[in-house]
Amino acid sequence: MGRESLVEAVRRAGVVGSGGAGFPAHVKLQAKGIDTYLVNGAECEPLLEGDRALMASRAPELVSAAETVAEALGAKPVFALKEKYREAAEALAKAGATVAASRDYYPLGDEVILIWETLGRIVPEGSLPLDVGVVVNNVETVLNIHGALQGRPVTHTFVSSGGAVASPGLFRAPLGASAREVIEASGGVTIPDPVYVDGGPMMGRYADDPDFPVTKTTKAILVLPRDSLLARMEQMPVKTMLKQARVSCCQCNQCTLACSRYLVGIGIEPHRIMRTMAFEETRNREVLQMALLCSECNLCSALHACPMGLSPRRVNQQIKKLFREEGIRPSFPQRALSVHPLRDYRLLPSSRLKARLGLDKYDVEVPYRGELEVTEVTILLKQHAGAAAATLVASGDVVAEGDCIAAPPEGALGARIHASLGGVVKSVDGQRIVLSRQG
Ligand code: SF4
Ligand code: SF4
Repeated sequence: MGRESLVEAVRRAGVVGSGGAGFPAHVKLQAKGIDTYLVNGAECEPLLEGDRALMASRAPELVSAAETVAEALGAKPVFALKEKYREAAEALAKAGATVAASRDYYPLGDEVILIWETLGRIVPEGSLPLDVGVVVNNVETVLNIHGALQGRPVTHTFVSSGGAVASPGLFRAPLGASAREVIEASGGVTIPDPVYVDGGPMMGRYADDPDFPVTKTTKAILVLPRDSLLARMEQMPVKTMLKQARVSCCQCNQCTLACSRYLVGIGIEPHRIMRTMAFEETRNREVLQMALLCSECNLCSALHACPMGLSPRRVNQQIKKLFREEGIRPSFPQRALSVHPLRDYRLLPSSRLKARLGLDKYDVEVPYRGELEVTEVTILLKQHAGAAAATLVASGDVVAEGDCIAAPPEGALGARIHASLGGVVKSVDGQRIVLSRQG
């Protein structure tokens, strides 16, 4: 298949990166000078194993789609996963894939880390994987590309439930189903005072209630105790964090020595960012822009590194927001990069992270439980990187599953959105479309 036809099929189907920020896949597939198409099956967050199940059960579709994409890019397809995913590796190899198996540490699924681990290439500061000849898509994205090549738009996503629920499971959920419905289908909450996480415990979004919709980037819905260290770190206001940093940051450097990006040779030193934010009146812009190199993996915080209960990650998020709001574009001088000589000794095995976070009690088998049946969905118009999609339907319209109901404004970066169930448009506003099943 030619590249133009592939890009057009993927664009029409509304495929976005299923992990992370939801970058529109058709844009990535236009990259030039690519030699490797890396399928990211490393899924490194504790309690997330949906991609592992997909690789084991849908290998022929994944391999076929990866080969089609790689051929269009002029690249070689490689599936990158953890050594312990033996069943998935065997299924992929049987379907003809090249598999690269890596050690099980966190955050292996960060594409910068995965590219180093798998290919031995460092993505320079301010650059993208395509600058080192690599396009990375995660497993579910590739499955959605397979669907797009058959003319099927993205209407559902694979979501696992975990943590303090009675019967954790993996579901195929319509976009716009609520996290509450995923939890109810998992037997309900088993603790008295929970918080809800959209994603993994280290990098997911924490919420006080489960009435938020599943989107194209939702990989898991977790339930955790409100008084857990994880929830407390996420919910502390950044202002409070900075006040605490003034009192207690001892500049011990532990956050930098644990930083996953620093260890792979990237010029980010969270202890220096903390110093300039907490203590310096004239903030050094060169230091602040280091925050833009942060993957938000959370290893620098009290969850792993900081002995004083701080979270440089939360501070970095705030700096990123300020840079965005003020339209400041960073510039990173080109320089030779090399991996830290002690990196191998500082890697954090996933099992140790799970134990440290008190999550090993939730580490159970997550069986596939089929389709999540719902009667109403709330579909967000922005569930991808770029501009929100503009609605193509009005209240009272009747739609079929798979109809395109919203599309990006002319010329803007974004992705099309399709009805995840057949029914009536109950309401539309600037942020969401509510569909109700008919009959
Ligand atoms: S680890 Fe904590 S106390 Fe040490 S420098 Fe980093 S933020 Fe400060
Ligand atoms: S969250 Fe912390 S450890 Fe992770 S990349 Fe950012 S600064 Fe480094």
